[in-house]
Amino acid sequence: HPSEASVLGLGAMGSALAAALLDAGRSVTVWNRTPGRATRLVAHGADAVGSVREAVLASPVVIACLLDHASVEETLGPVAEDLRGRTLVNVTTTTPGEARELASWAAVHGIDYLDGAIMAVPSMIGAHTGQVLYSGSRAAYETLLPMLEVWATSEFFGEDAGRASVVDLAMLSGMYQMFAGFFHGAAMAATMGMSAAEFTARQTPFLAAMTEELADYAKVIDGGDYTVPGQQSLDFSDLSHLVRASEEEGVDPSPIAMVQELISRQVAAGHGSEGFARVYESLRADR
Ligand code: NDP
Repeated sequence: HPSEASVLGLGAMGSALAAALLDAGRSVTVWNRTPGRATRLVAHGADAVGSVREAVLASPVVIACLLDHASVEETLGPVAEDLRGRTLVNVTTTTPGEARELASWAAVHGIDYLDGAIMAVPSMIGAHTGQVLYSGSRAAYETLLPMLEVWATSEFFGEDAGRASVVDLAMLSGMYQMFAGFFHGAAMAATMGMSAAEFTARQTPFLAAMTEELADYAKVIDGGDYTVPGQQSLDFSDLSHLVRASEEEGVDPSPIAMVQELISRQVAAGHGSEGFARVYESLRADR
């Protein structure tokens, strides 16, 4: 093959992935739907080609870093037979179900499929401050590990291609809800004239200290006993005072009302004397 890997998609992330491979001395072919985005990579030694098919044929390993699942299907569908016998590493963000769908499609066409979920921003690629989670073909993961480690710390979660996405999106779900909680708190504080910066100076150390609680909640959840003594009960506080305070101040209570609703469901089911971690039971999948 003319190159070791072909990168499809030269957006912010795809460009960073290709650049890191070039920096590590790997030979790379690149393709982007809209031409003209490869100039800097070509100056660093990449071979730019004008069609997906040429990019696929250039390397045994094809890395897709496109916008979403639909763009991957649209781009790779027509070159399925060209991909036969090659390894496809798809680091485009997909849901677990979409990753499994691509893995099944790849299996039909004799393509070794590895799904990747990037937990990093482009500037972290190659700096080893980020993580990329993988699932799917174990053989592909093990063979490619020296190359994958060029980007970030790598971790393999199993042969079900959807698993990396589950972990990635679970982590992001926790993060976005924390941010939404912060926005709600900042909107509350603003009603008495506090700037977001001033609120942040108070909220940041408080939230950091509160993350210590997570390990204790995890112990209760994994133990499955929500009556463990020493916890604040759901009856003691169903957070209705927080919802009322928000309404009194004219701030949309949606984020905190959502938490109250999860608590209410457990209280209504007769678990009011149990701890806050019981909320987990309002959410979890049936096992
Ligand atoms: P960009 O918006 O910078 O780039 C998107 C890329 O996808 C471009 O190369 C674009 O090509 C291409 N593309 C979009 N639609 C199509 C299509 N229908 N057919 C072919 N190519 C298409 O996004 P990023 O590079 O930032 O992100 C790429 C992937 O990486 C996403 O799935 C994202 O979720 C994931 N990711 C990104 C992170 C980040 O911090 N940036 C972090 C973690 C994951 P064109 O130039 O022609 O528009």
